[in-house]
Amino acid sequence: MHYYYPEPIAKLIEGFTKLPGIGPKTAQRLAFHVLKMNEQDVYDLAKALVSSKKELHYCTVCQNITDEDRCHICKDKNRNQSVICVVQEPKDVIAMERTREYNGLYHVLNGVISPMDGIGPEELKIKELLLRLEDEQVMELILATNPNIEGEATAGYLSKLVKPFGIKVTRIAHGLPVGGDLEYADEVTLSKALEGRREL
Ligand SMILES: [Zn+2]
Repeated sequence: MHYYYPEPIAKLIEGFTKLPGIGPKTAQRLAFHVLKMNEQDVYDLAKALVSSKKELHYCTVCQNITDEDRCHICKDKNRNQSVICVVQEPKDVIAMERTREYNGLYHVLNGVISPMDGIGPEELKIKELLLRLEDEQVMELILATNPNIEGEATAGYLSKLVKPFGIKVTRIAHGLPVGGDLEYADEVTLSKALEGRREL
């Protein structure tokens, strides 16, 4: 349908279509909404899009996204340096932080082992995690990948890999909805899952 639109709007629709969960109809609606927005808001949005790509990169320590060399969590000396909570995505760090129950460090894998999608351990930030375990005084590694097939497989893989380091490895408790996403768990459920973690 949108082939008949003037090129700038056709391009905008095409751009929106590339976002997750946005089909052609929604893309069209968003594009026309942009036309109605005031110029400053459109400019700010465009700038936010570009700078999110330009200025953000992985924290050199925990692999979370940051606009600094080390993220604010890794730089915070008041946090418990002896515990690392391993999560799949940057948004899971936000979910864990929301519980206000956890005061240790994080490691963000930036993915999960998923043979179906052709994602193996090499694609994740596992090498970086092992380097930390060699260098830092870590006593416990909490595996907080999602409670679904890929998340469990990744946790199992990591626990075997980390065993030789002699570090206590724990897995957050079930109680989280199976097949669910950490990011959608409410704070209470996530706090409970953290509290009830068991040793692997
Ligand atoms: Zn960091």
